[in-house]
Amino acid sequence: MPEIQQLPPHIADLIAAGEVVERPASVVKELVENAIDAGAPAMVVEIQRGGMALIRVTDNGCGIAPGELPTAFLRHATSKLRKAEDLSAIGTLGFRGEALAAISAVSRVDILSRQRGAADGAALHLEGGVPGVTEPAGCPEGTTLVVRDLFYNTPARLKFMKSDSAEASAVAAMLQQIALSHPEVSIQYIRDGRLEMHTPGGGKLLPAIYAVRGRDVARSLVAVDGSGEGVTVRGFVTEPLAGRGTRAMQTFFCCGRMIRSQLLTAAVEEAYANRQMTGKFPGCVLHIDLPLQQVDVNVHPAKTVVKFAEERAVFSAVHHVVKDALDARAEPPVKAAPVNPEGGFFQKMDAKTFREKAEKEEKASKPYRQADPDRKKILIFHDADRPVPARAPAADSEQPVTEELQPDPFPPENPPAPEQTVLPSAPAPWKYRGELLHTYIVAEDGSDIWLIDKHAAHERINFDRLKANAEPVMRQQLLRAAAVDLPQEQYAALLENLPLLDEFGFTAEDFGDGCLMIRAIPSDIDTGQIRETLEMLADKLLSGAAADPNAARDAMLHTMACKSAIKGGWTSDPAELRVLIDKVQSGEVAYCPHGRPVKVKISKYELEKMFKRA
Ligand code: ADP
Ligand code: MG
Repeated sequence: MPEIQQLPPHIADLIAAGEVVERPASVVKELVENAIDAGAPAMVVEIQRGGMALIRVTDNGCGIAPGELPTAFLRHATSKLRKAEDLSAIGTLGFRGEALAAISAVSRVDILSRQRGAADGAALHLEGGVPGVTEPAGCPEGTTLVVRDLFYNTPARLKFMKSDSAEASAVAAMLQQIALSHPEVSIQYIRDGRLEMHTPGGGKLLPAIYAVRGRDVARSLVAVDGSGEGVTVRGFVTEPLAGRGTRAMQTFFCCGRMIRSQLLTAAVEEAYANRQMTGKFPGCVLHIDLPLQQVDVNVHPAKTVVKFAEERAVFSAVHHVVKDALDARAEPPVKAAPVNPEGGFFQKMDAKTFREKAEKEEKASKPYRQADPDRKKILIFHDADRPVPARAPAADSEQPVTEELQPDPFPPENPPAPEQTVLPSAPAPWKYRGELLHTYIVAEDGSDIWLIDKHAAHERINFDRLKANAEPVMRQQLLRAAAVDLPQEQYAALLENLPLLDEFGFTAEDFGDGCLMIRAIPSDIDTGQIRETLEMLADKLLSGAAADPNAARDAMLHTMACKSAIKGGWTSDPAELRVLIDKVQSGEVAYCPHGRPVKVKISKYELEKMFKRA
């Protein structure tokens, strides 16, 4: 064994720095929290190249005395904690006195500061944590911290950084959280010279939500304010009709801290029962406050998960306060289950195949040729999917298939063609028996029952089609360009991917200030779904896909497959469902692109057991 030695201080500092400073977003978080602790009513956060080249945070807080500038960068140097008892009554965000030491150890730092009311300020430069000489400097009241070349002296850490845009998104996400939890502070966020977010300060939550989440979200909010069982719930939730495709717009703060909580999500969503369209999620910004001893914030290392001592009380308070707020507004009449807004299902499913096959069909020998012109679309669809093998009848094929078709109101189109005397030995088509909850198709195969998730099945078909399609997508020009206002983060994610959007049929332009101007969309997408589609894509990109071109492409494929599919909750034409049954029966479609099954079998035997017949 080598001999035991104490680490030299600069190595110990680098190790400690690694724990505090993980990426640019964590630097920004520490600096912004320091500015808030300094009582600054306003601050400007600037980054370049995702924060890797430069991070500058300027505040108009209390400032630091010139003589204390070097002290602020020493480990365990803090003005926020004096004695051990203070630990139990901490009112500030930081208190360990570690952030500035850690940040300066792995970057090049400049600090400029002038105390409130002081005549002069001072400046100090540090290189890898080593301070230069404090010099007098003219500067406004408050503090400016500039962090350059993050991780320049820790190449191993540098290697782990994601793309500049991913780092910038993480910074934006973090600043949004801070902006929503501290509406009293005005925050400007400038990325590569461009103002991306500007909250007004002043303490009101609604203007902060407007600045962070965009105009459309802010316009559709219902104020929530109430309490029960010692739990106070305040903030805003979205109107039921303004639901989102994902839960990305649900933000919860517990005692000022951003948290994630399935309990809170469930409590809010239950308040929307019967008001929210299937597949849509409410958005919210809710501040939940309760006595500190009722929450344990330490269950999760990143502290975004908390444990409530009285889960039932928290659930019930949030649920009732939100529900009361929703009940109190004038409720628009409940709409009937929406019909597929586009119709045109068959053309959509196979626009290209449709044309090709129509031509081929003219020439081909026609075992499946149908006389009824109304049935043609369906027929072609089948034809495309099942090349017609004139197979010999199998020996065990006892039942004539034709007899099976009778009770089905939408028989599949494979009656014997005139010149075809023997039927293929393919199994009898499952019978369409109806639909449950506007979501599950019921089919029967003679002995067993199949439930098919119509959205999942259609989504899979679309996904495979899109993936296989090497040709450019068909796009529809919009008569009037659609302006889509998006929350900052989503907007940035889409801007980074304009070429990908274009490839899949969206002609989009940057209109500035969170707005994308959409001039054309893929013909598969309904005009009413432009926003949802873009939001879904952006959320997928933000949850990691943006980093890798293949993953970004897959995110696009998934989004398009989902958004061009019929939805659970829609009223569908049974003829559409018939097509889905055949696809599922043929085994071509077994799982949706997310890996969920599209069909579930309930056997006759299981039914008999349930009814105690077996
Ligand atoms: P902590 O915030 O845990 O005290 P930091 O290393 O973040 O530790 O900061 C050290 C000290 O530097 C703080 O306690 C505070 O006195 C001072 N300081 C840091 N940033 C600012 C700022 N923006 N304005 C005023 N004082 C600051
Ligand atoms: Mg701090």
